[in-house]
Amino acid sequence: MPNPQFTKPWHGVPRDQIHWNPSIIEDACIGCGTCVTGCSRLVYRFEFDRKKPVVVDPMNCMVGCTTCANTCPAHAIAFPSIDTVLALEGLGQVRHAVEDDLLARHDILMATESLPHPDRIITLAVAQIEHLGTDVLRVQFKPAQAGECFCEFTPGQYIELWQPESSHLSRSYSIANAPHGDGSITLHIRRVEGGRFTQWAFEAMKVGDTVQARGPLGGFTMRSKSDTPLLFMAGGTGLAPVLALLEQQSRFTPQRDMVLVWGMRSPEAFYALDDLLALMARAPALKVYLASAEGWAGQVAADGLLHRVAGTAVDALMQNPDLLGERDVYTAGPPVMLREIARVLETARVDSARIHMDSFGV
Ligand SMILES: Cc1cc2nc3c(=O)[nH]c(=O)nc-3n(C[C@H](O)[C@H](O)[C@H](O)COP(=O)(O)OP(=O)(O)OC[C@H]3O[C@@H](n4cnc5c(N)ncnc54)[C@H](O)[C@@H]3O)c2cc1C
Ligand code: SF4
Ligand code: SF4
Repeated sequence: MPNPQFTKPWHGVPRDQIHWNPSIIEDACIGCGTCVTGCSRLVYRFEFDRKKPVVVDPMNCMVGCTTCANTCPAHAIAFPSIDTVLALEGLGQVRHAVEDDLLARHDILMATESLPHPDRIITLAVAQIEHLGTDVLRVQFKPAQAGECFCEFTPGQYIELWQPESSHLSRSYSIANAPHGDGSITLHIRRVEGGRFTQWAFEAMKVGDTVQARGPLGGFTMRSKSDTPLLFMAGGTGLAPVLALLEQQSRFTPQRDMVLVWGMRSPEAFYALDDLLALMARAPALKVYLASAEGWAGQVAADGLLHRVAGTAVDALMQNPDLLGERDVYTAGPPVMLREIARVLETARVDSARIHMDSFGV
């Protein structure tokens, strides 16, 4: 019988709607019994006559757990792909249920000793807000107090922000500029339907507001030698850290061979083209490809210097292998795009040391 203790909804999703449980590959099973005795949720029983385990209560299995498969000496236990769980984690309801649970059980779950970490929390003030493309805000922040700034971050890094008066956990945003010495930070914030932070940013944030910010964080920074050619692949606001890296390169290695492929859903969604053109003026070898998944029908060219591609950024890469060439790859944006790019690069046998990824979520 499914045990109510083990079959509670998983982060708000009814357990019987989640297909996650082990199956035994009978031919491979040697009947050692490790899975049966090792699972505390009574998913298995043992058929002593046949000397084989049986999955009797699949719903008791903890979503995402694969302990029995990991400890099976005969590799005789199979699970659905972990993508099953990742897809659930991508749902707003799950994300919010986890967040609410963390906050509700704050006292129990709080780590009492935190490891020393170099990042700091400071207050930033909103200095400028612009609506760009179809659904992006470009927000400039300045230090709220003189001398308290993220002045020495490395291009490609991100910060975490808390909306004012909020007990919610923070959200991460990539810094879209290289350091300018005055601590100014530009972010690109894309509207997310039902999103807690972005709803506030689009509907309530105004110039003069202050937010708590932690950082600088992340290792999506330039790792390649100064003469190595580079391919940047950005999806949506994945442009932000790429712009910071391009700004850095346009200052220090302006003659470097660099290609940017930037994917958006539709032609109207592209934004900050002025920034790209300014970078191209400073780094003449930089080539930019705008990939519109919905194609370009009826659209006027943004500028003769910007190449237009019909299809996604991944399509552009697959259709034109010369974009990759011997370039090191820096790619940022939604995880689904990054996973596809990783597959393409794996097929092309690109050494993983040449690939740098900045994922914007699960
Ligand atoms: C390292 C890092 C850097 C990031 N940099 C940026 C950036 O520069 N610009 C930017 O706009 N975002 C960036 N993000 C994403 C950002 O942190 C938030 O996740 C996003 O703004 C949504 O927050 P929210 O509170 O509005 O949505 P939530 O309330 O957290 O989520 C609501 C729903 O939206 C979905 N969702 C959350 N994030 C996304 C997303 N990015 N795309 C599609 N659906 C999503 C969730 O799965 C959920 O279904 C970055 C994330 C990481 C981890
Ligand atoms: S642990 Fe593996 S080999 Fe051992 S009984 Fe379970 S399925 Fe069979
Ligand atoms: S995955 Fe974990 S919970 Fe599920 S059957 Fe195996 S040991 Fe039990």
